Amino acid sequence: MSAIDEIKQRVDIVDVVSQYAKLTKAGRTFRALCPFHSEKNPSFFVYPEQQSWHCFGACNTGGDVFSFVMKKQGIDFGEALRMLAQRAGVTLPSRAERGGEDREKQKLYEVNEAAAQYFQSQLDAKAGEKAKAYLLKRGLSQKTIADFQLGFSPDKWEALKQHLIDTGYTEAELLNAGLIIEGEGGKTHDRFRNKVMFPIADARGHITGFGARVLDDSLPKYINSPQTPLFDKSGTLYGINLAKDAIRQQELAVIVEGYLDVITAHQNGFQNVVASMGTSVTEKQVSTLKRLSKNMALALDADAAGEEATLRAVSYENTLDAEVKVIIMAKGKDPDDVIKEDAKAWEGLVREALPIVDYTFNVVTAGLDLTKASGKAQAVDKLLPIVAEIKNPIRQAHYLQKLAQLLNVSERSIEAALARIRPRQGRIKLPKQETTPSRHPLLSSPVEEYCLALLLQHPELKGSAQGFLAEYFENSENREIFIAWQQSDKIELVKESLEPEIHEHLESLLTRELLGDRIEQKYAECALRLREKFLRSLTMKIQSVLALEAESGGGAAELAKLEEQRIAAKTQLAEVLAQTKQMRLGQRGVR
Ligand SMILES: [Zn+2]
Repeated sequence: MSAIDEIKQRVDIVDVVSQYAKLTKAGRTFRALCPFHSEKNPSFFVYPEQQSWHCFGACNTGGDVFSFVMKKQGIDFGEALRMLAQRAGVTLPSRAERGGEDREKQKLYEVNEAAAQYFQSQLDAKAGEKAKAYLLKRGLSQKTIADFQLGFSPDKWEALKQHLIDTGYTEAELLNAGLIIEGEGGKTHDRFRNKVMFPIADARGHITGFGARVLDDSLPKYINSPQTPLFDKSGTLYGINLAKDAIRQQELAVIVEGYLDVITAHQNGFQNVVASMGTSVTEKQVSTLKRLSKNMALALDADAAGEEATLRAVSYENTLDAEVKVIIMAKGKDPDDVIKEDAKAWEGLVREALPIVDYTFNVVTAGLDLTKASGKAQAVDKLLPIVAEIKNPIRQAHYLQKLAQLLNVSERSIEAALARIRPRQGRIKLPKQETTPSRHPLLSSPVEEYCLALLLQHPELKGSAQGFLAEYFENSENREIFIAWQQSDKIELVKESLEPEIHEHLESLLTRELLGDRIEQKYAECALRLREKFLRSLTMKIQSVLALEAESGGGAAELAKLEEQRIAAKTQLAEVLAQTKQMRLGQRGVR
């Protein structure tokens, strides 16, 4: 999660605003005398659910917690970011540190790339014959070997080290990248020797580390790069650089365990497959995948899907607000075997993947005699804690019903058991993983992001974007990027003028896959949609205020003014809708 998202989750806009204005609860909102302009009747509102604010008085503007602090303190986004970070207890690296860090990282990417190229060259050399034979025996094609940049590390202590130092890298850089290790007496040598090398890349295709496999049956079978400034195993998904487009297109990410599972899947045309780098998927990996698709299917060994794994998966379901499915393979088989034997069979397994909660129901109840009271009690003991973890009320109700039917008891008794479990819910501790306090849901806006991605990737749209207001972006990062883009023609300059914390977000917009045709048309459509969204939200806010005013017998002048604003917003909305309709008709005419 980005520092900005973390701040948004931890800071409550109601707390922040109440430092500057006396808030009074009014229905689902809070109201106050506007802290920005002087007034007698409160026309400033805070919306806790949306974590936003709006002034219907002289300001006639609104935004999120960042824009509130910026306006109130008269500071820029960067300063607001630092202020709120401090409040939220989120550490931001300083600009100078960040600059140095960026250069350091850049150097490490380069050194990794150079190492990968060296390993590749060794695979084709005499020394790599055995490794090459191993890969071919595993069924990999030359093209696949090249696509995944597979390589070989020679059986020597200083082969890579010497090569890279000759190329101009320093020993310190190699150590920092985890490519060499310090041995006894401080002498360094290659970390990877006599192994098949799997370069590991991030979503942008930059190599962050390496996986390495022995050529015989010795143990450990695999070793990885250590934790480095670039490589963090818990956040890494092997193959993500080659899988991301397919995951987006197919709206499904399939997660397997091993490097070869990924490679074999891709070679057989299943490109939406990545590996989790360990036995269980982590929160960090889920948040990376979430940007591509919210649908995930885990390929699990039949034994691996225990109740603990299910509990964790349910917490991911809560994050994704979607079901996590499981692809169940026969005991001792992995995707590599299944796909090589019969690619169609794998396709079938993926198609028939079960929601993980259903799967766990099957496994648990299969071993119990549900006609006996003891069997029923055991099923409840094992399954109810899982159902209790489900946050989506409809899905939770579904599984309560399912459990009642399975056990042939009344739904009421199951609900009563759930109610007993609920107060203890806090104690159902997942095996230790990084947990982030999530007080506020992150409101991402796909329309905002799509619109921005179009503008950033297509400079020719600049002319069409006249009259487009920064205000249409509710999300502060998007707003910042849009303003920077308005002021500059070059992406490098846009990037430079933005806070480093926004760079990752900018990068994801710049690399977003957009189909190349009818760009003008697409932009016009999404600009209208964004405007529509803005006006709808504004109308809704005005209406809720009007309702409050009417109840509390607000002044006639205020009511009239609000009514005027409401009519203005409605008129604009009607125009936007008419334009949208016309555009659709126009498209139909073209086709
Ligand atoms: Zn105001």
